[in-house]
Amino acid sequence: MGEFELIRHYFQRAGANPPGVVLGVGDDCALLAPEPGQRLAISTDMLVEGRHFFADVDPVALGHKALAVNLSDLAAMGARPLGCTLALALPRADATWLAGFSRGLFELADGAACPLVGGDTTKGPLNLCITVFGQVPPGQELRRSGARAGDEVWVSGQLGDARLALDALLGEIELAPEVLARARQRLERPTPRLALGLALRGIASAAADVSDGLCGDLGHILVASGVGAELDADALLASDAISADLRALPRERALHCALAGGDDYELIFTAPAGAHDAVLQAACSAATPVSCLGRITTEPGLRWQDACGRPLDLAWASFDHFA
Ligand code: ADP
Ligand code: MG
Repeated sequence: MGEFELIRHYFQRAGANPPGVVLGVGDDCALLAPEPGQRLAISTDMLVEGRHFFADVDPVALGHKALAVNLSDLAAMGARPLGCTLALALPRADATWLAGFSRGLFELADGAACPLVGGDTTKGPLNLCITVFGQVPPGQELRRSGARAGDEVWVSGQLGDARLALDALLGEIELAPEVLARARQRLERPTPRLALGLALRGIASAAADVSDGLCGDLGHILVASGVGAELDADALLASDAISADLRALPRERALHCALAGGDDYELIFTAPAGAHDAVLQAACSAATPVSCLGRITTEPGLRWQDACGRPLDLAWASFDHFA
């Protein structure tokens, strides 16, 4: 199969374009049409074999995850997807792999109304790079820099299970098969929180998605906003933000997975304390659970305490490719 046949067969689809797409795959450029006055939100994420995924990972799951990690960035900005492009380096044109990968990608793209509008295909070590384009009304984007002292700190969904699956796949911990299956689902099929990001426009003061771990990504918000935060580790462990599977493990491992794990693709965000009920309402309208973890402080830095108010030293770095 040649390059152009491959693109046509696996990545070009017939049918009318959605309103935001004037021209999709097949020309020198795609043409997108954001609604008048809206700002374009753009984000790129690359996935490299051996670094972000195992060589034998299910291609359907990989197609899903490659797009999911990008959509998660749009969600964290409060942006609505317009379309995406895919740059793909493949060692060979493996029909089974391509069929699975494109199926996983298109299933999520269809569900998120984020059509594939272009890309590039070349031979080489397996490497995937997706760029997403979205739109957000001026002033309504959820930047990292808007957190203020007194704001509450929230997180969506559950933290730590992706890291738990990774530790198990690397042989560092043994899990019961059904526990591993659940955790693996979180590692390989993260859910981008797009509906929540949209619902938090005008409510959240700052937001980021949790890709490198709660401590690290909340840390980005704190630095960008020039503030600090006080969080209760035991309250976190007891909250809905921790799965029963993770809570059943020794405290140290549960905390490490939840705080420094990464690959969660949940939203960490802040909102004024007076907007507490508005946050709960937004979460309800987006059908996405959220948990309140603590408070933003004037004093910079991230401080953890236990249930008795004793400070905890949880100085784990979040994931850094060059550390
Ligand atoms: P050019 O060489 O002019 O950049 P290409 O031959 O790379 O064009 O691609 C032809 C068309 O196919 C373009 O519209 C491009 O956006 C699209 N395309 C290439 N690879 C992919 C891919 N993996 N997924 C989606 N569209 C792709
Ligand atoms: Mg090209």
